Amino acid sequence: MWLRYRRAVAIAEAVVILSIPFIRINGESAVRFDLHELKLYFFGTVFWINELYLLLAATLFLFVLFFAVTNVLGRIWCGWLCPQTVLLDFAQDIGRAISRWRADSIARIILVPVSALVAVSIIWYFVPPLDALRAIPQGETVTMFFVAMWAVIYGMLGLLGRKFCTTICPYSMIQGGLFDADTLVVAFDQSRKDECMGCKKCVVDCPVGIDIRDGLKRQCIACARCVDACTAMTGMRKIPSLINYAGHVKRPKALWLSAVVVVAGLVFAVMLLMRPGAKIVVTRNPKQPAMGINSYSYSLQNNTDHAISLDVSLNGPFQLLGDASVEAEPFSRRTGTLLVRSKGDANEVVFIFKGDGILIETEAGFL
Ligand code: SF4
Ligand code: SF4
Repeated sequence: MWLRYRRAVAIAEAVVILSIPFIRINGESAVRFDLHELKLYFFGTVFWINELYLLLAATLFLFVLFFAVTNVLGRIWCGWLCPQTVLLDFAQDIGRAISRWRADSIARIILVPVSALVAVSIIWYFVPPLDALRAIPQGETVTMFFVAMWAVIYGMLGLLGRKFCTTICPYSMIQGGLFDADTLVVAFDQSRKDECMGCKKCVVDCPVGIDIRDGLKRQCIACARCVDACTAMTGMRKIPSLINYAGHVKRPKALWLSAVVVVAGLVFAVMLLMRPGAKIVVTRNPKQPAMGINSYSYSLQNNTDHAISLDVSLNGPFQLLGDASVEAEPFSRRTGTLLVRSKGDANEVVFIFKGDGILIETEAGFL
């Protein structure tokens, strides 16, 4: 029965989503977006919001992956992995187990704490879990964010329910346009329609309330509940189910789409590996301290998992005043000021940052 497999997948998904923020790599959550510094901690490395080329490569990879998965496996995300489906199934199954008649009302009550847990788990991807749990009861910004998220998620789950999938969800709308004749879908075998007992179990069990016997509809989330229902009914007559997954997964298009996904993933991985260990931006400040002395702001971005210390030297007739080194903690950004005195009449100064296997040269104007 597909329901058993879907439950196993849902449990595995919940365990992964809830545990990732608690997994610590290099002293940080495995995945967390730092809103303060606009950077994403991702399994031991960090992506900065200003690294547009990496962002573009990641977006391209995700877009290709989304296209390939949808074209080959249809609405596999909707039926098996989407939190909207998984959580509604969870609440409605418990509701039905407690009382068949009041299943929907019970499910709505169950979804109140479930929505709170989802809201907290989303916050864990922005604020370290223990900090978030400490901050939420204290009426801080996190509290407002939590309450707003809780309300929105409950609105989506408890109030809109499956209507969200069939009317609002943009992903649901896009997917239909990516299907082809071989895409995996749930279908009724029209060639055997004479064998249908007319029990309507497939319709009763369908979470979005459609009759798959009338053909594939846009609302179908490919959850396979109707397959299970029909398997149970036809099993009594010892005939195979009239409803099944239909389509061709093993086909040339699936192979070349997979190849494109692998290539896009490799391009992203290579770009990530080739990324320099540090990046530094130096800009001349508008306000200057004295004639013949220029002040510069620097921003040092450390992409490595260890602290770096770079010696600063200058090219040309210039003298660096003050500290001749800049430092940054692992995966962090350090800003500061450099003072340069002119010893000639050059109007361009070259800063050289060297150390820990890193060499960066950057120019700035001198007035
Ligand atoms: S028709 Fe079947 S697969 Fe589609 S949503 Fe209904 S129960 Fe799920
Ligand atoms: S569950 Fe199967 S046998 Fe019953 S109405 Fe649906 S398709 Fe026909």
